[in-house]
Amino acid sequence: MAEQKRVENVIVVGGGPAGYTAALYTARADLEPLVFEGFQWGGQLQNTTDVENYPGYPEGIMGPEMMNRFRAQAERFGTRFVSDDVDRVELGDGDVHRVFLGEEEHRAKTVILAMGAEPRRLGIPGELELSGRGVSTCGVCDGAFFKGKNVIVIGGGDSAMEDAIFVSKFASELTVVNRRDEFRASKIMQERAREEGNIEFKTPFVPEEFVGGDGGNLDHVRLRNAETGESEDFGAEGAFVAIGHIPKSEIVVDQIDTDEDGYIRTQPGSTKTNLAGVFAVGDVVDRIYRQAVTAAGTGCMGALDAEWYLRDTPPSPGAHWMTSGEPTEIAPTPGS
Ligand code: NAP
Repeated sequence: MAEQKRVENVIVVGGGPAGYTAALYTARADLEPLVFEGFQWGGQLQNTTDVENYPGYPEGIMGPEMMNRFRAQAERFGTRFVSDDVDRVELGDGDVHRVFLGEEEHRAKTVILAMGAEPRRLGIPGELELSGRGVSTCGVCDGAFFKGKNVIVIGGGDSAMEDAIFVSKFASELTVVNRRDEFRASKIMQERAREEGNIEFKTPFVPEEFVGGDGGNLDHVRLRNAETGESEDFGAEGAFVAIGHIPKSEIVVDQIDTDEDGYIRTQPGSTKTNLAGVFAVGDVVDRIYRQAVTAAGTGCMGALDAEWYLRDTPPSPGAHWMTSGEPTEIAPTPGS
């Protein structure tokens, strides 16, 4: 007899706040979610220190600790995890969806895409070559390597301010280089950076090249004055690139509706994509808010949308849906 391949109710792709929250809700709905959380599970919060703006933690909590707790909470209700990166997917439209790890195939009636985003790069000479040799995209991860060194942080958003504040604890001098005179960062983050004694600001300058020295480590950064067009060499032993993020939608971008930057499009007020049974949540959708709490919120929405899809009964406006302890009509799919 031919082997019957198991068809999951829900596969979640991604292991950040959005993916784990989708897992928690679908697990509590007895849908036995299977989560492909990635080799480096935990998402961007794994590279963060204190999270002070997640409600419920008045003293703050460390990013990795928070992700451990998200994961444990989803696990408590029966979530299964695969700590590996998905290689490719074949998304059906109202049909069975397929998720592949190499040649290993997993099938599901619904898929919740929660792959998140990753740091944007400048795309200039020396950036990749000197990565790990002075050039970094994560101040929190690498800041401590630059004790007593002269460092620059590139960017003008909250990420740049956060990196600058963190790395300034180690660096002797730190210069934030921004391509405009105005900063995109929130007022409070700018003020905090300006209050640090060893942070300078240099604008409007555009990085053109990272240049190594004799030892093969970063020696200086070539900067172009955006007003005059003149270039100068700015000595720096460390450079942190903090210029935003790009959505990690590469495994679906050919199959699903995205915007010009690769963010997955969802229907307004919902996590539904253009494909039936495929939902998208968190930073792979959201170019605006990108907070742990908003990612978790949309993860919850994705789980409820998937559940409603499986039940084929969209909720009426104002209806209460999830109540703890009530039996669900959806039987988990039995194994093969
Ligand atoms: P962002 O707000 O998009 O800022 C990106 C910065 O990089 C901007 O200053 C931008 O300049 C600059 N930039 C982009 N491409 C560049 C290039 N090729 N060359 C030079 N500069 C370039 O990104 P973010 O700072 O990562 O923040 C993303 C979101 O996360 C925001 O909503 C932010 O509030 C949030 N966040 C919050 C916290 C916190 O509250 N603790 C920490 C980090 C992030 P232009 O302004 O000229 O475009």
